[in-house]
Amino acid sequence: MEKSALNLSETKQGKIRTMFFTVKMLALFFSAIPLFQYFSENFSMGFNNNNYNILYSVGITLISICLLMLFLMFIFQRNENDIILQKLEMAIFVIVFIFAIYVSGANESYNKFIFLFIIISYTIEYGMTTGLAIASISSGVIILMDFAFGGGHKVNRFFEEDIALFVMFFLTAWTIGFYVRLEKSHIEYLIEHANIDGLTGAYNHRYFHEIIGKIWEESMEKKEALSLLMIDIDYFKKYNDTFGHKRGDELLRQVSAVFKKNLRKTDILCRYGGDEFCVILTDTDKEQATVIANHLRQAVSRHQYKGDKNLSNEGLTISVGVSTFNGELEDYNGFIENADIALYRAKFLRRNRVEVYSSVFNDIEEIDNMNADLLENLKPLKTLITVINSRDSYTFKHVDRVFKYCLLVADAFELSLEDKRMLLYAAYLHDLGKINVAKETLIENKKLTQQQWEELKQHPKDSEDMLRQIQGFEDVATIVLQHHEKYDGTGYPYGLRGEDINYLARILTVVDSFDAMTNLRPYQKTKTFEEALKEIKRCRGTHFDADIADKFIETINSL
Ligand code: GH3
Ligand code: MG
Repeated sequence: MEKSALNLSETKQGKIRTMFFTVKMLALFFSAIPLFQYFSENFSMGFNNNNYNILYSVGITLISICLLMLFLMFIFQRNENDIILQKLEMAIFVIVFIFAIYVSGANESYNKFIFLFIIISYTIEYGMTTGLAIASISSGVIILMDFAFGGGHKVNRFFEEDIALFVMFFLTAWTIGFYVRLEKSHIEYLIEHANIDGLTGAYNHRYFHEIIGKIWEESMEKKEALSLLMIDIDYFKKYNDTFGHKRGDELLRQVSAVFKKNLRKTDILCRYGGDEFCVILTDTDKEQATVIANHLRQAVSRHQYKGDKNLSNEGLTISVGVSTFNGELEDYNGFIENADIALYRAKFLRRNRVEVYSSVFNDIEEIDNMNADLLENLKPLKTLITVINSRDSYTFKHVDRVFKYCLLVADAFELSLEDKRMLLYAAYLHDLGKINVAKETLIENKKLTQQQWEELKQHPKDSEDMLRQIQGFEDVATIVLQHHEKYDGTGYPYGLRGEDINYLARILTVVDSFDAMTNLRPYQKTKTFEEALKEIKRCRGTHFDADIADKFIETINSL
């Protein structure tokens, strides 16, 4: 849709440029006629045969016109904003026309009308002011010729006719210029409205995707920081359900107004969809973006909305995800995705908060800065994870979330630093074996066939095989191998039971299942956090280690 709109405007621009080019070429040909007459009358070249003189004159006129055309074609390719070339082109036309008028009788010439060509084309191209300026120059040139060459006559018949011509020049520039101005403002109005969300007055989703690409490129070029806020209103469905959609709309309008009031002029506020907004913060680093995000959160919270106390004790609140370009991203899609991941975390951590995106790899670096060797070994695996992402972004996001949950709950389980490290590596690498699962199986949205299940169930073993070969990852390989075992012995691949399953693998199983339940999987319905916690409680002692399940529920509830 955006692409075709762009192509359409490019095609239109191309057509307009061709039209201008044709008009300008026609003007040159009209000025060629008097030039040709002049050459044929005044330069005989000493040929006795009159036919040779005519040929010579045609030749010289054609050559000059062709040279001029070539030159103008070069100018025609100019950047539209190149003022010097634009002025040079105008000057060339005026000089050629003056010369053509001069050689065809100066004040008595019948070719003075050729100025109309450039008045028309420049008025359409650059607007009324330029058109009127060219009309003035053209009239000035003709007046000068009238006075310079027709001064001897008592009654200057030509000057009287020229007055009518001047009126025509100015009238043409004025009427066409007026129309062009109207059209321009109309187009600007339409473009502005095509980009604006009718309800909130913020930019719309279409515009967001159009502008973020451009801003991304610009920031890369200028090597400037760039940040993005993804904002979602908390419990907005409840507000809609309680007060109706109309009041919901009014609330969206008010929240948007609060945002606008509290943002800088350069910040670009867009309604991403539903109750979600995005703010593009140019030339803004992570710290500044976090300050702005918190400022917005507080401003929304301070503002009084009708009935907002029905939502929670805090009134109306928002959750914000912050993403900043970190030098690792290949394109802006990852940048948007990171803000989305951060927003998800903010929602998970009981809403009304700002969360800044940090990559799993950065988090690992932070906790493991003592262990440079392991980090070095992790690099090729990071590439594998990136490959998984390109095939199946669900798994990639899932891995990211499982890692973050493990980071959150690790301290509650009072793990030693070494165990914490093992758990986090395992969380990061547990689905590595999915690289061997067919893409169709990973994205299948129907119930899997027996054969597909068998294929999917192979992934813990495949993950283990890959990790066993890397020095320092032997223990991580064991945790990964066992993360689908169940406490009652009904899991896979070996049907291990109870404490035969590695303790850290038992923790990972709970976290992994919690995320699978709360996020849309191709073959499973999503549960709310509360429903998922209930399910974990129901399966304590069967699927999950009862103590670990209890501790997990307790930790998540205390966040
Ligand atoms: P959460 O705290 O997790 O954000 O939950 P929520 O209740 O805010 O729900 P969520 O953000 O997932 O859903 C947004 C809701 O916004 C869904 C829909 O009912 C409502 N909505 C979406 N667009 C409009 C709109 O234009 N006008 C109104 N009144 N409501 C809208
Ligand atoms: Mg919401």
